[in-house]
Amino acid sequence: MTLIPRDWLPSCSMKRVICHWTAGGYKATSIDRAHYHILIEDDGNLVRGTHHIADNVSTADGVYAAHTAKCNTGSIGVAVCCMGGAQAAPFQPGSYPMTQKQWETMAKVVAELCQFYRIPVTPQTVLGHGEVETYLGIPQHGKWDPMVLPWAPEMSKTQVGNHLRALVQRAMMGEEPAEQPSPATLFIGGKTFPLVMLNESAYVAIRSLADALGWSIHSATAGQVNLSADGKRLTLASTLVGGKGHVACRDLAGALELPIEWDAQTRRITIG
Ligand SMILES: [Zn+2]
Repeated sequence: MTLIPRDWLPSCSMKRVICHWTAGGYKATSIDRAHYHILIEDDGNLVRGTHHIADNVSTADGVYAAHTAKCNTGSIGVAVCCMGGAQAAPFQPGSYPMTQKQWETMAKVVAELCQFYRIPVTPQTVLGHGEVETYLGIPQHGKWDPMVLPWAPEMSKTQVGNHLRALVQRAMMGEEPAEQPSPATLFIGGKTFPLVMLNESAYVAIRSLADALGWSIHSATAGQVNLSADGKRLTLASTLVGGKGHVACRDLAGALELPIEWDAQTRRITIG
């Protein structure tokens, strides 16, 4: 299913698509329409900008959608209408947080643009405004749109950019984004283990972990496991899941005195 009406797509040569948020409300205003080629409202409704995409083939005549400082030539500007009053650090989404519908629609819109204008999906050719400085070396004076997802604010700018490009690629292949997130894993001692999520905490089966990493379990009762790991004697609270004793990753990292990190994009916890 195509989202962009065919007559919004003039035949011309474009180099890249730059994604933005308007830093306004959920509906496209006339000012928004002057600055972007395609706008996406909160419910996913598309609004055409005042300038045609072909206006940005050349910016020498001064008639073009001005969306990215010193980078409007050959650049299609797409924006989600949202994030008015948002603050970067500490992150505050304001009264119009970007909706998942907007984010997913933007990926589909960008996919259609890439297909039509034969633009490859790379960090230099499909990117957020907040990535222009990084990938194209053109200063953007602290612009950070649309590099924070209000429903997953822990994702880094790099992760959000890669996530956007992955969604675009998936949309180009005609696949709907997966409904279910991939299962979470634990990476420790150079090996990967499946995780069980309970009450928003991640648990790992202690017996398979100990076997794989050469740790010895001295005793395991209903609520507690006693083991030696890398020369340390540990006592951890354990919980039965599917008949197997599981320990919380956070407890494990604490007992081992090792750093613990959660990567939201890959859904992986790393200890050590
Ligand atoms: Zn922007």
